[in-house]
Amino acid sequence: RTARRPFVLELHEGDRTMAGLLGGKGAGLAEMSRLGLPVPPGFIVTTEACRAWLSGGGEPDGLWGQIEDAMVELEQRAGLRFGDPSAPLLVSVRSGARFSMPGMMETVLDVGMTDAVAAALVARGEGRFAWDSYRRLVQMYGRTVLGVDGVLFDDQLTLLRQETGAATDADLDAAALERLTAGFRRLVRERTGEDLPQDPREQLHRAVIAVFASWNGERARLYRAHEGIPDDLGTAVNVVQMVFGNRGERSGSGVCFTRDPVSGAPGVFGDYLPDAQGEDVVSGSRSPMDLSELGRREPALHAELSTHLRTLEEHYRDLCDVEFTVERGRLWILQTRLGKRSPAAAFRIAVELVDEGVIDLDEALTRVDGTQLQTLLHPTFASAEGLTPLARGLAASPGAAYGQLVFDAETAMAWTALGRAVVLARPETSPDDFGGLLAARAVITSRGGLTSHAAVVARGLGRTCVTGVEGLVVDPDARVATLPGGVTLPEGTVVSVDGTAGELYAGQRDVEPSAVATAVSQGAAPGEHGGDSTVRAVLTLLAHADLRRRLGVMANAETPEEARDARRFGAEGIGLCRTEHMLLGDRRVLVERLVTDEDREGALAEIEQLAHAEFTALLETMEGLPVVVRLLDPPLHEFLPDLVELSVEVARAEERGTVEPALERRLATTRRWHESNPMLGLRGVRLLTVLPQIIDAQVRALAEATVELRDRGHDVRPELMVPLVADVAELVAARTRMEAIVGDVARAHDTSLHLPIGVMVELARAALTASELAQHADFFSFGTNDLTQTTWGISRDDAEANFLAAYRDAGIVATDPFKTIDEAGVGALVELAARDGRRTCPALGLGACGEHAGDPASIAFFARVGVDYLSCSPPRIPVVRLEAGRQAV
Ligand code: ADP
Ligand code: MG
Ligand code: MG
Repeated sequence: RTARRPFVLELHEGDRTMAGLLGGKGAGLAEMSRLGLPVPPGFIVTTEACRAWLSGGGEPDGLWGQIEDAMVELEQRAGLRFGDPSAPLLVSVRSGARFSMPGMMETVLDVGMTDAVAAALVARGEGRFAWDSYRRLVQMYGRTVLGVDGVLFDDQLTLLRQETGAATDADLDAAALERLTAGFRRLVRERTGEDLPQDPREQLHRAVIAVFASWNGERARLYRAHEGIPDDLGTAVNVVQMVFGNRGERSGSGVCFTRDPVSGAPGVFGDYLPDAQGEDVVSGSRSPMDLSELGRREPALHAELSTHLRTLEEHYRDLCDVEFTVERGRLWILQTRLGKRSPAAAFRIAVELVDEGVIDLDEALTRVDGTQLQTLLHPTFASAEGLTPLARGLAASPGAAYGQLVFDAETAMAWTALGRAVVLARPETSPDDFGGLLAARAVITSRGGLTSHAAVVARGLGRTCVTGVEGLVVDPDARVATLPGGVTLPEGTVVSVDGTAGELYAGQRDVEPSAVATAVSQGAAPGEHGGDSTVRAVLTLLAHADLRRRLGVMANAETPEEARDARRFGAEGIGLCRTEHMLLGDRRVLVERLVTDEDREGALAEIEQLAHAEFTALLETMEGLPVVVRLLDPPLHEFLPDLVELSVEVARAEERGTVEPALERRLATTRRWHESNPMLGLRGVRLLTVLPQIIDAQVRALAEATVELRDRGHDVRPELMVPLVADVAELVAARTRMEAIVGDVARAHDTSLHLPIGVMVELARAALTASELAQHADFFSFGTNDLTQTTWGISRDDAEANFLAAYRDAGIVATDPFKTIDEAGVGALVELAARDGRRTCPALGLGACGEHAGDPASIAFFARVGVDYLSCSPPRIPVVRLEAGRQAV
């Protein structure tokens, strides 16, 4: 970096590795200059300057002087002069942070336009171009620098179109645009008491500061919070010579991708808008033409663009997106970055780049993630045969979603918070709608192409999206949308959006498993893709993840059906078989009989018989793989009748004067065991004090089933797990009892039997005394649901609705601790227990079960603290396999 100008770098002085200092856009521009692509000259004000400004110390010393020097050099390179009517240089002043935040910050175009420059252009016969550029400057400067509400400019523009009968902005002539410029300036004066400065240096200076300030704009902060981008990075400011797409017929602007970001198919892909500046393409204010149409009109230009796109993709070894502008037949590249893509495209592109020899499979694995895979496993619509769509549009982001129509972002967020599924419909979207895009299941817009704001953001978020819906008129104020043929769709109407076909349907359509879900759930091999490129890519990367991963993947499953699913999904065992299902529901009375002493022996025999049959079926299904059976865990409370209902029943019986002794005993027992805090009460290992016979029956059934199956030649591998242990003495008591029973069974069969016995670590005290527990346990399994509940002291059943959601809104907690592991608190306990446990007993097995084990964002944590396996519900298994593979490369 040149010491002479610490806050400013010229484009050719930077490269792609400098995104931290130059922002992503700046680093991309610098890299493209290096590669010899036609990038207009310019310079970059560094993020360091922005950080200095943000820290409150005002403008850093020397900044403006350095910018002025850089402008002199820019004038020389461009052969033009800033503010000189005879050879005017205009510049764009563009935000660009380290991480892409598309449209979230500000950019001011056409800086340097003044009355004198406009007059000179008019005199040279370029009136339309002059006034179009001028009105754009007033509009962007007014909004960004002076804080005038952008809607007010749009309203004037709409009014002008109506008055002049212009269908789009492109139909406005020079006179109309001159009037518009005057109108915009009047608006700015009225609102701010200031006019657009006629000194281009003042325009530039204030635009740079406004771009700095846009780092802390509300939508930028919201976006950073969602994407987990730190708040203190700041933005760079790119000052680039303007090239003009709004300079007549042979000019225009476009956005394109090196491959199809929707499906991932090879071949360039994009939109082009003649006689327009770049903002017009993204804002969706006019419907653009396909890139292939540009190819027919301007074959040489299209060929040149394609060459540059190939260069970029080979250089970055990934899908790139590009902004370009054509000025009077000459092509300029204005931006490149790694392109946002749909989940399906992410998989397909990664694997096809491997086929092409560009990257290897390890690298490909890092290009996809579990959240994307989860989206691909979502159901899709069943056949549309016999159905007629309400309307068709562009398939902007694949997926199948239904919900109630809403017409603004606030309603989308409010309704979603109430638990409703919503579809957001807008004329077009802007960065201000980000919260709504995030909340909605699907987004539809009446205008805009495949590279419009809505399309790009929806693909990045994996949201279903259809843009440019033909004939759709959205009226957010009246809260209604209409379609040709008199169809009206008021707010709240249920519609289905097929983002894969680009169609809108009335009502809620039937769904069926996606092709990816079907293939994965059948345990298909990479070759069995049926010609579907996305399926093939998913199967290929899953297979590679399996090859690489060190984490085992097990299932939480209890029935043979679930176990079969789990095996097909790729589970390597059952990490958690909850035994309570055997005793809840109809069978609840068996436990009640035990507690009330009503035919105890009979009830016990029945419980043991049931358990024996179920364990046998489960073990057989999981032949060759471990099955971890957890002893009865839920509160005794859940097996007893409801105290209030029972009291009412007894009172009624008393009125009739006939209270059966059995009923009285039931009431007494229920009252005796009633708890106000059952989740912190008589449950888990504590049941040993009241119902040791149930635990005996469970253990005996498991041991019997095992011995019998082994006798018949089956390789079955059961293990036992004790829930809710707080103190080592509880574990010792449980273990002694279980080992005695296993020993009895073995002796009776004249054989030997050893079942590994583990402990669930789900209370803080267990984690803190892990060294002691490890002396009596073969394995630990972290039950992070209860561990979160008890570490935070919050109930997972009630907390979300009552205050957790409000905590997140207020920024008190960043994420839901029941979804993604709280590394600082709950995670610290897990880490401590893992370390202490292993220190005491190096062979100790370590597993994790519960929601967090299936959460893509938590898996890196478990890998880091040395867990051996994760156990999650069967449908989550593919996601966990993929994430575990990603952790290992
Ligand atoms: P964003 O980050 O929102 O894409 P940009 O800084 O890329 O913002 O600029 C907004 C629009 O202005 C883009 O369409 C871009 O191509 C266009 N633009 C930026 N700089 C120039 C320039 N020097 N000449 C012509 N168009 C430009
Ligand atoms: Mg923009
Ligand atoms: Mg851009």
